[in-house]
Amino acid sequence: MAVFVYAENINGVYKKAAFEAVSYAKTIAAQSGDSVTAVSINPTDSSDLLYKYGAEKVINIKDEGLKNFSAKAYAQAMNEVAADGNIVVFPHTTDASSVAPMLAVMKDFSLITNVLEAPESVSPFQVKRRAFSGKGYMHAKAESNGVIVTVSQNAFGVKENPASGSEEVRNLTVANEDTKVLSHEQSSGKLDLKEAEIVVSAGRGMKGPENWGMIEDLAATLGAATACSKPVSDIGWRPHSEHVGQTGKAISPNLYIAVGISGAIQHLAGVNSSKTIVVINSDPEAPFFKSADYGVVGDAFQVVPALNEKIKALKG
Ligand SMILES: Cc1cc2nc3c(=O)[nH]c(=O)nc-3n(C[C@H](O)[C@H](O)[C@H](O)COP(=O)(O)OP(=O)(O)OC[C@H]3O[C@@H](n4cnc5c(N)ncnc54)[C@H](O)[C@@H]3O)c2cc1C
Repeated sequence: MAVFVYAENINGVYKKAAFEAVSYAKTIAAQSGDSVTAVSINPTDSSDLLYKYGAEKVINIKDEGLKNFSAKAYAQAMNEVAADGNIVVFPHTTDASSVAPMLAVMKDFSLITNVLEAPESVSPFQVKRRAFSGKGYMHAKAESNGVIVTVSQNAFGVKENPASGSEEVRNLTVANEDTKVLSHEQSSGKLDLKEAEIVVSAGRGMKGPENWGMIEDLAATLGAATACSKPVSDIGWRPHSEHVGQTGKAISPNLYIAVGISGAIQHLAGVNSSKTIVVINSDPEAPFFKSADYGVVGDAFQVVPALNEKIKALKG
């Protein structure tokens, strides 16, 4: 049997999260003795990119009607194509994590979201997952024969495992009448915030939008994406696409640098799964320091440019 995996693309181009999901599916397949079949909707990228991470088969769904994203229509397409698999893997992206529960209902499968590690067992399926907005972990066990998992981004990692794969094109015509795209905000940064391995984030301590140059400079030096606290995007200093936290994006980069952010619980809810947190704040009592791996008590306007120069010198 095949372990199916949803290989998400954006405008036809595979996301890094798709490679991570395929890597995860390959690990499950090795445990269960199955093969890996990746499914993608209207991709333009080559299937070779998925074979590299262990997909033995790639099914490319071609359907003009699925040009606009709809969780229901995408779940229907997955249900049609992944009809005979007992395990379906999704990346825990915004889109995929709304498709996965719909597919779980259609297939009457268990759903385990935000998984962090390879499963402890595949039959029954048991795995460690993130819980309580990243404040804790739990070990979840699927109660039905079939299971759908979403893989927390940057948790498992992208692992090369080259396979000699084959490709199949499946022409579908899934009804997609429920969705009308009103607007589509594209992140202004060069890097996708949810996929970035390093994020430089700033808050109200920056005093105004005119001071963001140093944040962008540091991000450029580190090859990082930029993010911000909620009030900063609310008052229009930065685009909403950069807002992280309970009501914004939840991210889990390897390194999160927080500059002039107090560390309110609603902010932490979106970033405390980061592997390493560095906090730069002028107030030694700022709550963020309690969650930090490294803290710098100091004025951001002095610390950030100095840090940038040091990193540039080290890199140079
Ligand atoms: C229902 C609800 C949902 C929310 N969702 C979110 C969310 O998703 N994301 C989010 O971020 N917030 C969220 N909030 C808001 C949250 O409670 C905080 O108000 C917010 O995170 C504070 O933003 P901040 O840290 O940028 O600003 P502040 O709290 O004003 O903190 C600014 C920090 O900058 C420091 N500072 C000042 N000057 C300097 C300097 N020169 N150098 C270095 N440091 C300096 C200060 O010491 C301070 O710690 C939510 C609130 C509610 C009620």
